[in-house]
Amino acid sequence: MTPAPTLPLLGFAAWSGTGKTTLLEQLIPLLVDRGLRIGVLKHAHHDFDIDQPGKDSHRLRKAGAQQMMVASRRRHARITETTLAEADFRQLLASFDQTSLDLLLVEGFKHEHFPKIELHRAEIGKPLLFPDDRDIIALASDQPQQSGEQQQTNLPRLDINDLAAIADFVCSWLDGCQSKEPEAGKGFLSVEAARSAILAALTPSTACSDKPLAQCHGAVLAADLVSPINVPPHANSAMDGIGLRSDDLAAGRWQLVGEVLAGQQRHEPVLAGQAVQIMTGAPLPPGVDTVVMREETLIEGEWVTVTAPIRAGQNVRLAGEDLAKGAVAIPAGTWLGAPQLGLAASLGQASLTVRTPLKVALFSTGDEVQAPGEVLAPGHIFDSNRFTLMALIRAAGCEVMDLGIIPDDRAILRQQLEQAAASADLVLSSGGVSVGNADFIKLVLAELGQIDFWRIQMRPGRPLAFGKLGQTPFFGLPGNPVAAMICVLQFVEPAIARLQDRVWQPLRLSALADEKMKSRPGRTEFLRGIFHQDCNGQLRVRTTGPQGSGILSSMSDANCLIEIVPDQPGIAVGERVWIHPLQGRLA
Ligand code: AMP
Ligand code: MG
Repeated sequence: MTPAPTLPLLGFAAWSGTGKTTLLEQLIPLLVDRGLRIGVLKHAHHDFDIDQPGKDSHRLRKAGAQQMMVASRRRHARITETTLAEADFRQLLASFDQTSLDLLLVEGFKHEHFPKIELHRAEIGKPLLFPDDRDIIALASDQPQQSGEQQQTNLPRLDINDLAAIADFVCSWLDGCQSKEPEAGKGFLSVEAARSAILAALTPSTACSDKPLAQCHGAVLAADLVSPINVPPHANSAMDGIGLRSDDLAAGRWQLVGEVLAGQQRHEPVLAGQAVQIMTGAPLPPGVDTVVMREETLIEGEWVTVTAPIRAGQNVRLAGEDLAKGAVAIPAGTWLGAPQLGLAASLGQASLTVRTPLKVALFSTGDEVQAPGEVLAPGHIFDSNRFTLMALIRAAGCEVMDLGIIPDDRAILRQQLEQAAASADLVLSSGGVSVGNADFIKLVLAELGQIDFWRIQMRPGRPLAFGKLGQTPFFGLPGNPVAAMICVLQFVEPAIARLQDRVWQPLRLSALADEKMKSRPGRTEFLRGIFHQDCNGQLRVRTTGPQGSGILSSMSDANCLIEIVPDQPGIAVGERVWIHPLQGRLA
């Protein structure tokens, strides 16, 4: 998944002729001297090419390679052809290795919003840009501010020829950015950071057992399934027709000496001048290595002629063509669905060694929460979370231990948590983890294990508790039903995959927004969306309407989550946005 860029961006706004590149060329060494690791993203003419005709990489690209990576011990470069649509700014940012840079300088991309320093030289004779560009944070000019100057500004002013002063400015601006990072260290975390912390805390479970094949659907394969046989076991015909020898094609006319049906085997060789009638799936008799389909043959009595050109070896399936004996047919960690079950059966496997399904204990908290079917007391609500969570957990291949609704009572909660932790592989609760909730939940959790209370920079789903009760991983999900579901999709699903030793890689696609979408910078926004493909094959997305985190119908109407990444201040109509299709994830 493409991480949201967290790296500070800094651009330079200037009219052409101001000498932007020359200035950057002189500025970068000063920044490097001050200990900064610098990346540069530069926009160029659409026909630019860093490759040269004659180079191997150029030849391979011209031959049709869509992405070309040239790598050596010292450096590597990837050239990606984007003939259909220009790469999105955010995609380009995300392709930088964020962890090995401190600052990304951006040249061009003037319609994107990020902080910029305006470079201005009077001799160019162009107006200043900052009055119309709110992204500009400082003005570097060759003219001192004149009193009475028409365009007074409070922006910091720098001398465009004093590069050391510009470098100092960049460093102090960068310090300011870091200290403004959203309350780092106080339990505030990005979605990515929270997910990484969760995954790092978990170790896959190794428990496994043999199960009859018919019961393996949805289980995870525990060990590589190695093919004990060749599939198909013998060379056979791919068509109903006649079987011939490829060294005998010139004969033009053959005598039919027999018929081989599927399931039969003819041991007598077919000689020159002879042919057999053969059905799809029937093993080739000795000598036969070519099959002509029935529609291209003419049979008169015991003689056959062929009405179309014949290629030696045609219409034949070779032994081991699908799978060779000893090859890995299904790797360990694979989720067993329809094709895998069929494949295992085709190898003669009556049972498979699968991971023991994880036991997930699940409960809701809150005195206001009542089970469906009861008469609702004033001010109470029905418990919806347990039912959505049960379905999500089962869809992830786990067994559910339903602990019901636990009232806001310290002794009962403690006893239930202890019991759950002792018998389950994972414990999930919903409700009671946000600020302002009865503190006893936190106290009880603290007594039983090591639990962190996070405020994740995302909406919905900000409060999340994660940690261990003894050795058992625990998630305290938010009470709001949509928030709880999104936390499952973003954090519990990958955690379960990790415990099952599977790779978690949900689909994320780029779509065009059909409506304006609001977001707050610095936060990941997950809206509920409906996407479709338009008549040009382009994915388009709109929201399901009101997006309150308690509006469960928004989730029920949605076929995707829309992800607005932290550096997107909002989405305009026609702008690109990420979507996470939900098909197959909500069960
Ligand atoms: P809390 O996280 O406990 O502050 O709850 C936030 C909101 O979610 C409150 O409006 C709760 O009433 C609601 N809520 C809590 N648990 C559930 C549940 N199991 N089903 C539906 N809504 C819930
Ligand atoms: Mg509550």
